[in-house]
Amino acid sequence: MCGVYIHVPFCKRKCIYCDFYSVCSDDKLYSDFVNALNRSVENRADNRIKVDTVYFGGGTPTVLESSQLASILNTVKNSFDVSHNAEITVEANPCTVTLESLRELLKGGFNRISFGIQSAMDDELSALSRLHNYKQAREAVLNAKKAGFTNISADIMIGIINQTRESLIDTIEKITSLPVCHISAYMLKVEENTPLYDMIKRDGNILKSIADDDELSERYLLMCRLLEEKGFLQYEISNFAKPGFESRHNLKYWRCEEYLGFGPHAHSYLDGKRYLYDCDVLTFIDCNGRPEITYTDTDVDKAEEYIMLSLRLAEGLDTVMLASLDKKGRYGNIISNAVEINRLSDEKLINISQNGKHISLTKRGFLVSNTVISRLLNR
Ligand code: SF4
Repeated sequence: MCGVYIHVPFCKRKCIYCDFYSVCSDDKLYSDFVNALNRSVENRADNRIKVDTVYFGGGTPTVLESSQLASILNTVKNSFDVSHNAEITVEANPCTVTLESLRELLKGGFNRISFGIQSAMDDELSALSRLHNYKQAREAVLNAKKAGFTNISADIMIGIINQTRESLIDTIEKITSLPVCHISAYMLKVEENTPLYDMIKRDGNILKSIADDDELSERYLLMCRLLEEKGFLQYEISNFAKPGFESRHNLKYWRCEEYLGFGPHAHSYLDGKRYLYDCDVLTFIDCNGRPEITYTDTDVDKAEEYIMLSLRLAEGLDTVMLASLDKKGRYGNIISNAVEINRLSDEKLINISQNGKHISLTKRGFLVSNTVISRLLNR
């Protein structure tokens, strides 16, 4: 089973911390984009490809009309063998949906919606230059529920400018009291080539209003605990879900399963090869649905990739699977490196299953995942 990812590269306004590929544009470009996207999906049509997840991400997919999103979904369904119970997600910005547009999305075939809420504190939302306030976010989630969505996700963020331990607790309390069944929780990262990076370069004092690494670690562990108390079980470093509501699409990325991406900068992994459409939106529109492909994984070792991705998951790494991918025998040391494994376990950074075949990171291990992986790999 394969996933399909649709990248909608538009936002109403760029947030100061965001380095995803998206542009602010007008309706004319939206319709040209939808036509180009539909053509690129049709050009790749193959009804032997079975699809059980479709994910519209961005950018902000919901800047497009619900009917435009439904037309793209329709093209996907006509081009691939999409299963009747496929998980079909659309990401949304709270201020780009109405009860009516949400009803249309549900009618158009979407059955999961993921809102970028980030915080329940309006001063934190303004510090991130988000367009919405918490009242709008709350209303968007309640409207999604009213429209008939039963699988609703919310993003929250740790390490926002001016966020305190108390305001994070308040955000968690408020968002978990909404009808959401999945939460993605990301740490704010100051990426180069973003306005936030430039602001901090000009005024280092801004850093004083962002929690330091020790505080962030403490807040991450606190958040994991609070979310679990509310019934959201951690299944990945940054993802929590009520049982049965884990994101089936995102699990494909971490389990090294196949997916096909469409749209500018969309990535794909099919038949053992990773590639992307390395182009901007205008080039994507101009290429008549046949964007140039750039292969990205010519040097990647599948076993190493599996180690990196599987250890993001609470289910962890399956040593039998690793051995089957490890054609060059480079990672056998993970399995045989008993001294280091025992040390990491004593330090409560990893769990080892009773039969010794699975290794997973603890919550504390997730916080220092790069170090734990280096130690496992004996580097
Ligand atoms: S809405 Fe999302 S994708 Fe768009 S600029 Fe903000 S963070 Fe980036």
